[in-house]
Amino acid sequence: MEKYWNKSMECATLSEMKSLQSFRLSQTVRHVYENVPVYRERMDAAGVKPEDINSVNDLYKLPFTCKQDLRDTYPYGLFAVPMDRVVRVHASSGTTGKQIVVGYTQKDLDTWSECCARALTAAGADKSDFMHVSYGYGLFTGGLGIHGGAEKVGMTVIPVSTGNTKRQINILRDLGSTYICCTPSYALFIAETMQEMGLTKDDIKLKGGLFGAEPWTEEMRTEIQDKLGCKAMDIYGLTEIIGPGVAFECSEQTGMHINEDNFIPEIIDPDTGEVLPEGSQGELVFTCITKEAFPLLRYRTRDIGILSREKCSCGRTLIKMKKPAGRSDDMLIIRGVNVFPSQVESVLLQLGNTAPYYQLIVDRENNTDTFEIQVEITPEMFSDTIKSLEQEEHAIKLAVESTLGIGAKITLVEPKTIPRVEGKAVHVIDRRKLH
Ligand code: ADP
Ligand code: ZN
Repeated sequence: MEKYWNKSMECATLSEMKSLQSFRLSQTVRHVYENVPVYRERMDAAGVKPEDINSVNDLYKLPFTCKQDLRDTYPYGLFAVPMDRVVRVHASSGTTGKQIVVGYTQKDLDTWSECCARALTAAGADKSDFMHVSYGYGLFTGGLGIHGGAEKVGMTVIPVSTGNTKRQINILRDLGSTYICCTPSYALFIAETMQEMGLTKDDIKLKGGLFGAEPWTEEMRTEIQDKLGCKAMDIYGLTEIIGPGVAFECSEQTGMHINEDNFIPEIIDPDTGEVLPEGSQGELVFTCITKEAFPLLRYRTRDIGILSREKCSCGRTLIKMKKPAGRSDDMLIIRGVNVFPSQVESVLLQLGNTAPYYQLIVDRENNTDTFEIQVEITPEMFSDTIKSLEQEEHAIKLAVESTLGIGAKITLVEPKTIPRVEGKAVHVIDRRKLH
């Protein structure tokens, strides 16, 4: 039986949800208009007054917000409450440029914990479970975000944070954790290290894991589930909106339900800003409608997604987003062809012979892009003949070319050549930017 954390919100009818969103949206717009000069100026310039926003159907009238706006107003320019009401700040992990800062009131922290509590409950966790948190604690939102949700559920939280993987595994085993959360890359590294320590999934008690903060493929999910012996659930979020818990997966594992009573999603054409109909692929945009300290209006995430209101077997009615393939910033344009690292990951894991570690290296020689994919071989392959390794390289080359529609040089590298990470994996080295 599917369990819900907050059934009235998670299973509301569409008209209930729309009217709640409309009410909260108009309140939020008034709040930012009155308290954030940047928003007031923008809305005035666009000729929109708070009284023009009465329902979700008016959303399109509001100006967009983008990452640069956060950088321009760094650190506190977009905060909508006096600092004496701000009880916490976080910062983005800075994957793409200068760090940005966000803030939370006590109510915002409660909202965040609620969102994560829904995610944990959807993953099957309850107060009898143990939660091993291997997301980083600190300015990064991962650790403290899930921590708050797990405490709200009443789980026994083990706040391990990142680092010292062998010690992590000992803690996992000794304390009998039934749930874990970390990046999917780190989950694989934990599995690899367990193997080196002579341990298998039978030595630990994991039932489920919440993995997010970076794109990952279905193939990677299978790999993690097999190696850690747990159900691997996706969780999505970003610092600017609240952190992890913006959207979460249910038992159906076919996309993530968005906590749309808190964050209204839209899909837009990234080039024109036009709102696209449900089912179209485009840039995800979120409007925060319950936040006090840092409520962004129509924030352009640069994540590429698809929204769907199709009925879900779990009973939740919250709109779903497809697993994002990556951000528009991650998308490489190589010789005119759009390439996402996640496509390469799918190909490699489907072939299934090499290790799940790879890096795309792009450069420019004589005005032409060069494209190399380094793929790590497994320790078992190390003793293979040159001929069989060449065959493997060739098989990867063919599969990559047919998937991406572009040629690549495939280089098999020795085990452990590609750096392991505790947080987000680095799948791309684009040297073209250095020239
Ligand atoms: P930074 O922008 O510095 O990486 P964040 O930790 O706020 O800092 O990262 C949020 C971004 O991480 C999202 O915009 C998205 O690109 C990515 N992300 C988070 N969760 C997922 C997920 N489950 N699947 C794919 N991408 C994700
Ligand atoms: Zn569902």
